[in-house]
Amino acid sequence: MAVGDMARTQLALDLETDDHLDAGRPSGRGVTIYAHLDPDSPHATLDNPGCNDVLISQIQAWCEAVGNTVTIRPVIDLNTEITTDAYTPTVKLTEQVQLRDQCCVFPHCTRPARHCDLDHRHPFDQQNPAAGGKTTTSNLAPLCRRHHRTKTFSPWTYDTPQPGVYDWTSPTGKRFRVTRSRRHGRLPNTTQIDHVPPDSEP
Ligand SMILES: [Zn+2]
Repeated sequence: MAVGDMARTQLALDLETDDHLDAGRPSGRGVTIYAHLDPDSPHATLDNPGCNDVLISQIQAWCEAVGNTVTIRPVIDLNTEITTDAYTPTVKLTEQVQLRDQCCVFPHCTRPARHCDLDHRHPFDQQNPAAGGKTTTSNLAPLCRRHHRTKTFSPWTYDTPQPGVYDWTSPTGKRFRVTRSRRHGRLPNTTQIDHVPPDSEP
């Protein structure tokens, strides 16, 4: 099943606890489960670390065992372009980009996207937002703080030939393609592609 198709049947189950309502019990913490459901299968695929395919009945059991509030959030279609006029992405846009890329998109980095900044590939113009890079699905990518600084303050650059595919060029002209495939699960796959000497750059 393609990523986009999975996204259309995705449910985000937010298992929330409310610590301050019952100070006498051990405090709990929120748990979010991202489950990709196929109506023809009894299994669901989870994006959560350490989880793979599980029975849908198992998810139901987890929800019942928590004994707290279970919130089902709307499906996020990973193929839809979400845009905001502001510099800061909305919660929905942030979650969409995190789900699409899963990890920092710098070559060989596996930092989870939920712990990354969202980089504007084309810089946002604070003085004139209409003139700069927009805060939109196709212009955002998760980068961990270290690699966000690398991209911002060094000659490393990247292009996105298609959503979720990142072609990086190093300061010495080495080029890397970062992708994510079913074969590699949640982790990104980095391959070296053609080499472009720095002095041949336009
Ligand atoms: Zn990184």
